[in-house]
Amino acid sequence: MGDAIFRQRSGVLGVGIVSKCGLLTPAQLAGLGKLAETTGCQYCKMTTRQTLIFLIPSDRLEELRKGVAALGLRIGVFGEIVRNVKACAGNKDLCQRALSDVFNLGGELQDRFMNRPTPRDFKISVAGCHRGCTDPYCADYGIVATGEDTYNIYLGGRGGSRKPVHGTLIAEGINGEGAVALLESILKTYTECAEPKERICNTIERVGLERFLPSEDFLAKYRSREESDFLSFAGLGG
Ligand code: SF4
Repeated sequence: MGDAIFRQRSGVLGVGIVSKCGLLTPAQLAGLGKLAETTGCQYCKMTTRQTLIFLIPSDRLEELRKGVAALGLRIGVFGEIVRNVKACAGNKDLCQRALSDVFNLGGELQDRFMNRPTPRDFKISVAGCHRGCTDPYCADYGIVATGEDTYNIYLGGRGGSRKPVHGTLIAEGINGEGAVALLESILKTYTECAEPKERICNTIERVGLERFLPSEDFLAKYRSREESDFLSFAGLGG
């Protein structure tokens, strides 16, 4: 594990820069442009995980580090850890289709979990509606908003491989607090059950999904207000 800094075959360094859910303020954008020029950056590359790669000469790394921190951004992480959270710009200002404020939920998840050691790299994706622009169905832990502070959770997906795997729906209609609590519990189970360097989809295949499923009590405790109202309306309790 370590910082997302990779020496390219040409000798230049590729340095991954992370913001909150891929969003930049105008000041950050302008600051990055200036930093690209002063650090001799050849190109800036946008990645599918919402990071920005600066390709710089290796002797400019410290200068870039300081500049990135001064802009309130951070260098990404790599290895057997929780990666930066890929979350869509889903809130009332940022996407007209957003059903919930996933921008803030994504930021909270990133602050809390990014860089935490895991048996193998662990990717979290959050989407503000079922369209899933951030690929939550192929993430290790995918969160999809279905209403105001109401989420479905998918576990054990895997993208970016020759054998892509769709995650399995493991919880429906829980609130954001529940999505965070369930992730805590899943990371604990994953760490206890996994073989070294085993991706969670393979751990699930080996030990069974049941080990990871939330209990009925958990689901009831974190049921969203919208889901509770619906169940009451349908005469199903809640
Ligand atoms: S997943 Fe939905 S809310 Fe998020 S960016 Fe895509 S369309 Fe908008």
